Amino acid sequence: MNTTSGALPHDATVGEALAWARARIGALEARVLLCHASGWSSTKLTAWPERSLPAEVLQRFAAWVERRAAGVPVAYLVREREFYGRRIRVTPSVLIPRPETETLVEVAIALALALTLPPEHAPRILDLGTGSGCVAITLALELPQAEVFAVDASPEALGLAMGNSARLKASVSFLESDWFSRLGPGEAFDLIVSNPPYLAQDDPHLEEGDLRFEPRSALVAGETGLEAIAAIVSEAPRHLAEGGWLLLEHGWDQAQRVRGLLLDAGFLEVQSWKDLAGHERVSGGRRRLVDA
Ligand code: GLN
Repeated sequence: MNTTSGALPHDATVGEALAWARARIGALEARVLLCHASGWSSTKLTAWPERSLPAEVLQRFAAWVERRAAGVPVAYLVREREFYGRRIRVTPSVLIPRPETETLVEVAIALALALTLPPEHAPRILDLGTGSGCVAITLALELPQAEVFAVDASPEALGLAMGNSARLKASVSFLESDWFSRLGPGEAFDLIVSNPPYLAQDDPHLEEGDLRFEPRSALVAGETGLEAIAAIVSEAPRHLAEGGWLLLEHGWDQAQRVRGLLLDAGFLEVQSWKDLAGHERVSGGRRRLVDA
């Protein structure tokens, strides 16, 4: 019997369920979805292809496979994505954490560790547009000596980020704020990080892959794609301690323009860092030591 066409039979075995899914979506995605639907490990699925699965597991799996075949991102189906070795819960209210954002986190950790601060002064770190909270939570867990703050304009995103933070036992202070708008004028940080929206509104990638399902507000900055970055760069000096760093993720082809914005705003030590794909993906600069 050909079990890969039509509906998934209610009594399908592991092997049959995977074969049915492979006719519709990628083999790896099929396996990830079946792991999540069944609670079985990938090893167990491989070891017991002839085992049958409970009807409700098969039903959930079949529904996910259909939605995946229609383009819905795997992370939104299984409601999580791994970031920096930890599971971050995601919903369609937030951007799905990306591997290139781990570069932002790695550079942020290195800069935070290299800060020369007065003794007893905990480095103060701010994550702008925290979304799922992946950046702020990772920084809080990797830099236990730091005080980490995170803002987002979306209440849904903040609620999710707070849940992620609590689940992972991170210490992050969350605030609903459109960039710096709700921060007091005197609030200063030693490191400000952000993975802001950086796509232009007519970027053709918006009609492809996972991006079609992610919040526009997390992806699109405006006509050029640099609007959010420009706003952050112009406002950040007022919220940076002397010698504090601003660190921004941006598009693979935006590094030069972002460095230009940082230099124009008077930042020092302006530089870019490459992601694992070799693209200059993160740029930053330092507020001068004495504000002259
Ligand atoms: N800071 C979050 C992340 O890096 C959200 C970024 C965003 O929504 N642009 O995933």
